[in-house]
Amino acid sequence: MNNCIIKCEYQFYCPMTDTMTPEQRHRCMSHIKGSGTKPELKVRRWLWSHGYRYRLNVKSVPGKPDIVLRSYRTAIFVNGCFWHGHSLTPNPSPIGEGSGYFLGNSACCKIPSSNRDFWVAKIRRNQERDQENYRVLQENGWHVIVVWECQLKPAVIEHTMREVELLLNENLLSLYRHKPVPYNTEEENQLPMAAEGD
Ligand SMILES: [Zn+2]
Repeated sequence: MNNCIIKCEYQFYCPMTDTMTPEQRHRCMSHIKGSGTKPELKVRRWLWSHGYRYRLNVKSVPGKPDIVLRSYRTAIFVNGCFWHGHSLTPNPSPIGEGSGYFLGNSACCKIPSSNRDFWVAKIRRNQERDQENYRVLQENGWHVIVVWECQLKPAVIEHTMREVELLLNENLLSLYRHKPVPYNTEEENQLPMAAEGD
């Protein structure tokens, strides 16, 4: 039996006039939110095939990031657009809670109109938890990279991952910048000056 409301990895499909029982909904959500989801696998495969080595769901790292590259001191989160509310614009002056909080849907996150309060509250909680996780990580000297599900579509995945790679390299450089390799001036002073000759 498939009560899962995610039809494929990109589309949130909700003919759902919210016919699910709370128990079904819970099972559905825990199924989707588990580790090893397909978007995350795409990121892992790309990284692996390009020589990057990583660990998964490291519990000792705050926020239990999906992918951890210790030597880059980088945590990668692969976020589903629906559950993490990609590109949703929060209402700047929310009068009250619930359905009015997000101004509207975004291209990749469509909140069901039925039972909207429930979904808005759920997505908001996820966003708040995300921000808290990123903040704690950064305070502990970690770099955070967020990859969105919609950035992993076949047409754009290569571009996305090249950007991730650039960020990883920047992160690695910044680690060395903070710990410069000691430079032996004593030894240099004993060397003759180089001359270019005529
Ligand atoms: Zn998205």
